[in-house]
Amino acid sequence: MAIPLLDLQAQYQSIREEIDAVVAEVFLSQQFIGGPKVEALERALAQYADVPRAVGVASGTDALLLLLKAAGAGPGTEVITTPFTFFATAGAIVNAGARPVFVDIEPKTYTIDTAQIEARITGRTRAILPVHLFGQCADMDPILDLAERHDLIVIEDAAQSIGARYKGRPACSMGHAGALSFFPSKNLGGAGDGGLVVTRDAALEAGVRLLRNHGASETYFHQIVGTNSRLDALQAAVLLVKLRHLDGWIEARRANAAYYDEKFAAMPEVVTPYVSPDCYHVYNQYVIRVPERERVRKRFAERGIGCAVYYPRSLHRQQCFQDLGYPEDAFPHSNAACDEVLALPVFPELTREQQDEVVRTVKDHLSSL
Ligand SMILES: *Cc1c(COP(=O)(O)O)cnc(C)c1O
Repeated sequence: MAIPLLDLQAQYQSIREEIDAVVAEVFLSQQFIGGPKVEALERALAQYADVPRAVGVASGTDALLLLLKAAGAGPGTEVITTPFTFFATAGAIVNAGARPVFVDIEPKTYTIDTAQIEARITGRTRAILPVHLFGQCADMDPILDLAERHDLIVIEDAAQSIGARYKGRPACSMGHAGALSFFPSKNLGGAGDGGLVVTRDAALEAGVRLLRNHGASETYFHQIVGTNSRLDALQAAVLLVKLRHLDGWIEARRANAAYYDEKFAAMPEVVTPYVSPDCYHVYNQYVIRVPERERVRKRFAERGIGCAVYYPRSLHRQQCFQDLGYPEDAFPHSNAACDEVLALPVFPELTREQQDEVVRTVKDHLSSL
């Protein structure tokens, strides 16, 4: 039985009429950039995150980049984040002109180890950029406390975690701002690239609005040099439809995760995702640790079952970041995660039968060791 890691076809078929109708609506309007759909999505997602402001941009990467620029994280400044994240987190810091300063992860949650942050704060630190990895929020209270004491900006990378909660508070509502991604594989995925900045800070909102539109609040009159990073109406229309289904899909992901948890409980060699009691996990990824990962990966491939490694190399070991000067073993928990993690299919439309096949594959692997 072939099982994809993510079945976007199944999702589309389940909402096809709604999607096709709004796509037709946008085409009939011939308004592709900005307009009522984009504004409606900004309002809807601000409300969803329980913050007053949101700005649509061209990608999650740009959401981070424009936020960092608007927050003044440019040349001569440092931004603290983890090396165990998608490349864009640190890439955006460099593209803003700042220097990424890495702090290792906490091995159970894969999110930033807050106990190690303070030692990395210097006079140049401008922001902390925690990543809500795989669908679970970082431990935000200690981060917010440090930021308050050291006068730092907190930007939440919530690209994988729309709908996640920490102590009841939604992702993106805790720091000064948050970044969302609508890359198709995210829990709220568009029909292409897209992203959104969510913030309670009026100055950050204004800054990102300027930057996404070539620094002009009035067409052809430019206050600063920005870029073209707008969210288009087609994406907004599709996302507004999908947003109506998001909570249901998150529930389905959580139920699938609970089913795996139960099945893997009988296999002590398998480390299932740890969920902090403070967190509501939305399982953009269901990530296990398993001995001899490369061998089980091969077994999955032979059976036509999708799985993936997020991420195979810690960012401090990437060629492009060698100039930051970190030794290979500087972040042992990040390195270990890179060697051991494996993401299994957890998409909402996954069936119990398919999950049983995934579990059987892991079990066969373990008995072959
Ligand atoms: C996907 C992702 C991004 C970037 O989003 P894009 O929309 O693909 O540019 C940033 N950070 C994390 C953690 C991500 O998973």
